[in-house]
Amino acid sequence: MIDLPPAFDMFADRMMRVIYFDMQRYLVAAGFFTVALLVFRSWARRKRIQGRRATRKDYTREIASSLRTSVIFALTTFLTLGLRELGLVKLKLETFALFTVVWQTALMILAHDAYFYWMHRALHHRRLFRATHLHHHKSRTPTPWTAYSFSSWEAVTEALFIPLFMLATSTLGLAMTGLAVFLFLWHMIVRNVIGHLGVELYPAGWVDNRWTRWWNTTTHHDLHHSSGNTNFGLYFTWWDRWMGTEHPRYREEFRKVTARTRKAEAEPQRESAPA
Ligand SMILES: [Zn+2]
Ligand SMILES: [Zn+2]
Repeated sequence: MIDLPPAFDMFADRMMRVIYFDMQRYLVAAGFFTVALLVFRSWARRKRIQGRRATRKDYTREIASSLRTSVIFALTTFLTLGLRELGLVKLKLETFALFTVVWQTALMILAHDAYFYWMHRALHHRRLFRATHLHHHKSRTPTPWTAYSFSSWEAVTEALFIPLFMLATSTLGLAMTGLAVFLFLWHMIVRNVIGHLGVELYPAGWVDNRWTRWWNTTTHHDLHHSSGNTNFGLYFTWWDRWMGTEHPRYREEFRKVTARTRKAEAEPQRESAPA
């Protein structure tokens, strides 16, 4: 048997922990929503956005490529930790004020929303689409497991946000706190899974209320999968509205799906019943 140096053992151990950290987030979030949709299946049936169903082949491809994405994300996490050891990235893991964690998490979410919108639009360019983003769009009817279903190239592009953001903030003299990065990562996977649920989670009126309409719904991203070159945003609607890329029937489709209540289903039967 080959005797490996202790440094290699330590490296392998840390690598496995990072892979576990990145993979379990996907499995927990996608697993949680899958179980929730099964438990509330009659509600979920009414709120399904598309008539089409994802096939077994879709699920297999989505889970396999999402696991590969988790490994690529882990390599990037490892790269970020390496940059920290070199002193290029400032990351505080000690105690910090709650207020700092809140505004840093918000800053990271806003920056990622902008990064994602422009990166996503670039990947839709005809010269890049086939090699990078086509794989994600093989899921015409998204499921919770579509969240990390990326080609390796797209996974790298998606993952680069964190080291780039950390390098930029560190250059500006801002030390991010570990908890803010942790909360950002959980927010990212939960919103990502919700965007791919295939079932509208948000209540009727969401897109018509000025306090909520800027927050992306499941219908928003679902329309991106079913009809292509609109709705590129991840968390908020504003980039698509500013850039004129919002699906022209987004609000209409959302209202249609959320109007399907149990009461609305029962009403036509009552109307057609003999007097
Ligand atoms: Zn796309
Ligand atoms: Zn998607």
